[in-house]
Amino acid sequence: MTTTVAEPAGTAAVAVRASGLGKRYRAKWALRECAFELPAGRVAALVGANGAGKTTLLSVLAGLVNADEGSAVATGRVAFVAQDKPVYRGFTAADVLRLGARLNVVWDEARARRWLERFEVPLDRPCGKLSGGQRAQVAFAVAVGSCPDVLLLDEPLANLDPLARREVTGELLAEVAATGMTVLLSTHVVTELGGVADHLLLLARGRLLVGGDLDDLLARHVRYEGPRSDVPPVLGDVVEARHHGGQSSFLVRLPEGPRPAVAGQWAERAVSLEDYVLAQLAVTRKEPAA
Ligand code: ATP
Repeated sequence: MTTTVAEPAGTAAVAVRASGLGKRYRAKWALRECAFELPAGRVAALVGANGAGKTTLLSVLAGLVNADEGSAVATGRVAFVAQDKPVYRGFTAADVLRLGARLNVVWDEARARRWLERFEVPLDRPCGKLSGGQRAQVAFAVAVGSCPDVLLLDEPLANLDPLARREVTGELLAEVAATGMTVLLSTHVVTELGGVADHLLLLARGRLLVGGDLDDLLARHVRYEGPRSDVPPVLGDVVEARHHGGQSSFLVRLPEGPRPAVAGQWAERAVSLEDYVLAQLAVTRKEPAA
């Protein structure tokens, strides 16, 4: 059964370890047989379709929800910013930071304030009178102020304008570089994770479909475009096949070893994170539910 256990932070290379993790709501499993190791100091993207189990996984890792099977262990202090970025609406940002200082065993006021200053959030206005994006920044400021070893963020980029999204991901990277913390963030905005995430967890219907180092994953996949064909020009697992008129396009997971050569009429394209995730989501959507 159960458990998220916070272990003391040390030199352990694994920041989060889940094994056989499962959570069900009544008879329906929201998360099942979920097993992965998240190396320390990484920014991991947690992706999946609506209802795939992302919030459930983050809630279990944060210790807010008990697992029904398996275990999860996070190393060191864990901070979680929920999808709705809850802050007391009657409190000013300065009040929220004071509360953060009281409630957290470890607190870095300067670090929290820097985050708010960076995003020009007024300290003296009640949070209820801030914009949704500014309220989100207050929640992030409290989270980084608590000096987490593992920072769990549920849809951190929702509510933010495109520039703020880029700035928040940039700040998170800077925090990771400066402190060595590990970030696991769920998102539907996959386009904005290029150059940010270096690890991927992909959930489909509560099961972990893909987990691993992003560069390794993408390096093992190639998109082939060429004349219409039922099969790709190389041996490998076809993740996705698309056919338009006289053209075919295959996203292929290559076997280990050197990359095979293909005939001249086939073009090889590097696979981006967005391309990869969209292909995986499209495939899982077509599959009947287990
Ligand atoms: P989204 O991208 O839409 O936020 P998600 O990947 O975060 O989705 P979850 O919120 O974890 O998905 O939900 C996973 C499954 O568990 C869904 O089928 C959802 O309906 C169900 N679920 C989540 N919370 C509850 C709850 N409190 N009671 C019953 N079912 C729930």
